[in-house]
Amino acid sequence: MIISMPENASAFQSPEFRTPGEAGEFIRALPKAELHLHLEGTIEPVTLASLARSHGVPEPSPDLYRYTDFPGFLQSFKQVCSLLRAPQDYHLVTLRMIERLHRDGVRYAEVYISAGVMLWKNESFLQLFQGICLGAQQGRAKYGVEVRWILDAVRQFGADAAMRVAELAVAHKQEGVIGMGIGGDEKQAPPELFEGVYEYARNQGLRLTAHAGEAAGPESMWGALRVLRAERLGHGVTAEQDPELVKHLARSRVPVDMCPTSNFRTGAISRIEDHPLRRYFDAGMLVSLSTDDPAMFGCDLTSEYMLAHTQFGFTPKELARLAYNSFQASFLSEEEKARYTR
Ligand SMILES: [Zn+2]
Repeated sequence: MIISMPENASAFQSPEFRTPGEAGEFIRALPKAELHLHLEGTIEPVTLASLARSHGVPEPSPDLYRYTDFPGFLQSFKQVCSLLRAPQDYHLVTLRMIERLHRDGVRYAEVYISAGVMLWKNESFLQLFQGICLGAQQGRAKYGVEVRWILDAVRQFGADAAMRVAELAVAHKQEGVIGMGIGGDEKQAPPELFEGVYEYARNQGLRLTAHAGEAAGPESMWGALRVLRAERLGHGVTAEQDPELVKHLARSRVPVDMCPTSNFRTGAISRIEDHPLRRYFDAGMLVSLSTDDPAMFGCDLTSEYMLAHTQFGFTPKELARLAYNSFQASFLSEEEKARYTR
């Protein structure tokens, strides 16, 4: 289900573009960074079916990607992870992810790997990550898309498990791991639990992000900022419940990656038109657009930008600003940012 791309030109209303095709071409051609993308959420049903066959287990139900709330989504995510078992599985899905990124005009991506889930499954991160690195290397050679990795801990598995993820991230800094994050059930595990983990990660030179303000309120974002000292936040949908927080984010320019279709599909917002993207942009926050788990949500980065245009009235110039923001919000060095946005 792609909710944002109008089916035909007659339903498409835009003062700037004559057809959805023209708008799509403009968006695709914009050099973009994708900063909030889970490797495990990029796997199309056809790839999942082939993974299942290769492991001799039943193919997942066609309804796997249908859910109406966040717990339902987490269940599906867990099932996807259960089909990822060997380095060659990760090699395949990494390569296909980079094909997707290339189709969307993405030049650079910071991609989450659910290292917390791998450890919980008692798998060898080292071996699986070799499959990922090989896929990334081949993808870069073929498509010119550069990818760096953020290892994601699962909040509800607790601080000790998150510390193992931080240690892994530190151990693989030379192989393209740039940071760590926490995801999962925000209501069950507030940011304060992970203060020591983030302190360790920061001291070891990792860059820090956190999912916050998606399923929980502004207090979760304040905690991520003040206690974890996260440098970037994922989602931040509930920030606007606290005008002081919006002002703080605008002043401090702490970036927030926004994923409107994801927020709608997981029930973080009940109607797409309620999404705060436009209001945050107008308030001066450093927001960029991302897809989160595009295969699971039936979106891609082009359709998210299209949504910004058709639903939230972003002009071509403002769409270009969102693309520019995506590099500014990244963990690239200033020289690298300048090279991508020249
Ligand atoms: Zn996410």
